[in-house]
Amino acid sequence: MRNLTILGSTGSIGQQAIEVIKRFPNKFRVIGLSARKNISLLAKQIRELKPRKVVVTDLSLAKELKRFSLLPRLEVLSGEEGLVALSSWDKNDIVLNALVGAVGLDSTLAVIEKGKRLALANKESLVSGGELVIRYLKKSQAEMIPIDSEHSALFQCLLGEKKEEISRLIITGSGGPFRGKKLSQLKDVSVEEALAHPRWKMGKKITIDSATLMNKGLEVIEAHFLFGLNYEQIKVVIHPQSIIHSMIEFKDGSVKAHLGPTDMRIPIQYALTYPEREDAPVPFLNLPGLNLTFEEPDLENFPCLAYALEAARKGDTFPAVLNASNEIAVYAFLEGKIPFTGISKVICDTLEKHNPLKIKGLAEVKEADRWARKEAIKIVNRWRE
Ligand code: MG
Repeated sequence: MRNLTILGSTGSIGQQAIEVIKRFPNKFRVIGLSARKNISLLAKQIRELKPRKVVVTDLSLAKELKRFSLLPRLEVLSGEEGLVALSSWDKNDIVLNALVGAVGLDSTLAVIEKGKRLALANKESLVSGGELVIRYLKKSQAEMIPIDSEHSALFQCLLGEKKEEISRLIITGSGGPFRGKKLSQLKDVSVEEALAHPRWKMGKKITIDSATLMNKGLEVIEAHFLFGLNYEQIKVVIHPQSIIHSMIEFKDGSVKAHLGPTDMRIPIQYALTYPEREDAPVPFLNLPGLNLTFEEPDLENFPCLAYALEAARKGDTFPAVLNASNEIAVYAFLEGKIPFTGISKVICDTLEKHNPLKIKGLAEVKEADRWARKEAIKIVNRWRE
């Protein structure tokens, strides 16, 4: 029996993780949960799973949850300090980090410091603080298992292989709802249109990132830190059917691909049960009906991917600034403050003004993140004038 904490349990990945673990009552015991503001769903999860500690990031909502008098032994923590306290709790065997945004970095580092298994769905923590995460991992016995479907695919393709024999990692992407469109056609797209992802069921932030192709850029940086390969060895290819979740090309020209149904419960389950595989109640692939196609990503009409690749190559605090300005821009679009094409503009203008810092510790990452958010908010506010 392994003790599991789920950070972000009321989000899309968190809810699917709970669906998964309910099928393995003899393998996993949920001891911790966290939510940002959906306390009614959190209360339901608490009654069902009986964790010992929960975190509500929002302070006033944490007080409200305490008033529910849920379980006599339940400890309710709050704020980002609460998240770190829960992440570094000695009782955890596995922490599933499904927080959204760079706010997940402290928790990622806390789990690694404690030497536990980190099942990582929070890609922003690797984008923002990847250099630090790697440094922490080198000093720790922790395991970091990716949940992002492409990275779970790469992780599985890499089992039994040598890093020196890899030529390239090939990350696939569906191209999102606006594949084939020109920048001029994207100015007036609505939030609803941008949220209509053709293949995957996901939360709002990542769905918008998929529509701008920023998600692929974040995933290139994520892959760089997870698998320790140079950026020249990481390629993005658009594969609209999303059947191949990613591929590894070796130096003899062989390519190993990971195929599977588009269902996030599969990589979630694998990150929890690894090195074992268990049954999953998903519709299996029907190969005779498949027609797989591939194309180059369109960097001209989807400039977010180009900015991400540039920030990745520049290194230092550029990826942290890329990520923070993207977070501000995506929520500004969701709130109707900027148009869809404004997202890339906010990111571009913030990156252009950035004076990078060498990352000595968490302080530089936090400083770059804070600076980028402030700059990006200024750009968003100017839009409305
Ligand atoms: Mg992904």
